[in-house]
Amino acid sequence: MSTFLELGLKDPINKALTDLGYENPTVIQEKAIPQILSSTEDLKAFAQTGTGKTAAFSLPIIEQVDEDDKQTQAIILSPTRELAVQIGNNIESFSKYLPSLKTVTVYGGANIEQQIKQLKRGAQIVVGTPGRTVDLIRRRALKLQNVKWLVLDEADEMLNMGFKEELDKVLAATPKEKQTLLFSATFPKEVEAIARNYMTNPVEVTSGQKNQGSDNVSHEYYIVNEKTRYPALKRVADVNPDIYAIIFCRTRRETQEIADLLMKDGYSADALHGDLSQLQRDSVMEKFRKKNIQMLVATDVAARGLDVDNLTHVINHKLPDQIENYNHRSGRTGRAGNKGVSIVFVTKKEKRRLFSIERILKKKFKETLIPSGKEICEKQLFYLINKVENTEVNQNEIEKFLPSIYEKLDGLSREELIQKFVSIEFNSFLSYYEKAPDLNNLSLRENSRGRSVNENMSRFFINLGRKDRLNPAKLIGIINEQGIGSNVEIGAIDILDTFSFFEIDKDFEEQTLTSFEDNKSDFNGRTINVEITKTDRGSSGRSRRGGNRSRNGGGRRRGGKPDKFSSNKDFGRRKDDFSSKKFREGFGRKRKKKMM
Ligand code: AMP
Repeated sequence: MSTFLELGLKDPINKALTDLGYENPTVIQEKAIPQILSSTEDLKAFAQTGTGKTAAFSLPIIEQVDEDDKQTQAIILSPTRELAVQIGNNIESFSKYLPSLKTVTVYGGANIEQQIKQLKRGAQIVVGTPGRTVDLIRRRALKLQNVKWLVLDEADEMLNMGFKEELDKVLAATPKEKQTLLFSATFPKEVEAIARNYMTNPVEVTSGQKNQGSDNVSHEYYIVNEKTRYPALKRVADVNPDIYAIIFCRTRRETQEIADLLMKDGYSADALHGDLSQLQRDSVMEKFRKKNIQMLVATDVAARGLDVDNLTHVINHKLPDQIENYNHRSGRTGRAGNKGVSIVFVTKKEKRRLFSIERILKKKFKETLIPSGKEICEKQLFYLINKVENTEVNQNEIEKFLPSIYEKLDGLSREELIQKFVSIEFNSFLSYYEKAPDLNNLSLRENSRGRSVNENMSRFFINLGRKDRLNPAKLIGIINEQGIGSNVEIGAIDILDTFSFFEIDKDFEEQTLTSFEDNKSDFNGRTINVEITKTDRGSSGRSRRGGNRSRNGGGRRRGGKPDKFSSNKDFGRRKDDFSSKKFREGFGRKRKKKMM
């Protein structure tokens, strides 16, 4: 293994690297740095986040930049603001002993005048997101005619995000004679096209096998159906009390829904996606970095800017649309020498997509059963015992109570005391889990049996339940009051503790939603909230009620919330389930009641 000095970097850079604790170059640095230093050939690098790619392209640029020339000599494009800021900060740390070297980072959503001022003062290196970079070129605030290095970082993601046009514009503003460095974790045909069109005979370097997964990550899959996907996620969280994970979702909406459900169920979680303001995103990331949040539910793009080395798990709530992105996701764990687990929840139908991933990773997925209630109890119990063992006793505070406590428990032996203490918590878990279904069976049953669904009915969630003194007759009354339409058939009704479900003739789906939304009625002081769910008749114990309504309906189409409240009684409930406050407090999980 070589040192940074041997790779040809000057003293001030080496000193800065030592300050940062970088002792030896990573694989990609070892390959890319001498290549960029010794040649002006273009370079195509296969490298994921976490491999040290930022230093791989920045260090040789810093080494070669002419500090006495204030013109922009290097432009680095990155897909997100977070990543751009991270790169900019890294470059500033690497060049802290080179006082004349200036770096400016430009990105959207921030004051452009301020950025223009900074550019006017002169910056040899500019890091930018594609949109803002084009904007600044157009305003003639950013001049790229003297650029010697163009870096396209996470090129696949930039294209995924639809920045093709912006990339073309930036490339057009740079001189023909320059060194283009393209870094990407995946090389779909769009990235290859960029390489073909804008690079001349590029040299290829990889941070290992192309697209191959890290050896420190094991890959597991759980078979679920739409009904068990979320409960399975909760069980994975419950069986790993120290979980520190990113849960990847495909859309912003799915991301927010899963985060909301987790938070409602008492988990330490929050959402990160592009619909949040920059301030909100920064705040969520900060909380996650500080481990004030254990589970971050995120879209692929939003999670890019997050630099966390010690994740225990990466969870694919759903597989990414582009298989190549799986590698990106799973590479967020198993970093910096740590071990990590990448988990995928797949339906039987989705399972075949794993084969393509296995081919890319050159690794096998291991099928894992969704943990049973008993396993979770055991795990949580020993977690509690460990906590007891490691708890420091505050003698000063507790001393005054001890004599009367000792007196009260005087007749009990050590064993009896331990048994009683453990049983306080354990009895309630056991009694809860006695009724917790085997989610593996549920997944299988639905798949083999098909769906016994009444295709003519739409199923709705309503935020009222037994605790609100709701019963089927009252629910029919509420529905009737909405003025939904004539001859509307009401189908199955399920009244649960804190919420309920009811079915309505599919033709009146929109009208039902619109009526409830427009009327904003309340029931015993609670504002009624009705949402559409997937029609699923899997759960038992429901009562059937029929009814007819009058008047015709119509109205706009509206999307549903398919996964949110499917009918499985294992999830979606509040205080009275195993993910409830009581459960969690018992086992001392780090909880967050309400985030943002
Ligand atoms: P990157 O792939 O550039 O996002 O880097 C991933 C993480 O590895 C960051 O936290 C870097 O600070 C760190 N890192 C990069 N290169 C080295 C190195 N040679 N030695 C130690 N840490 C490094």
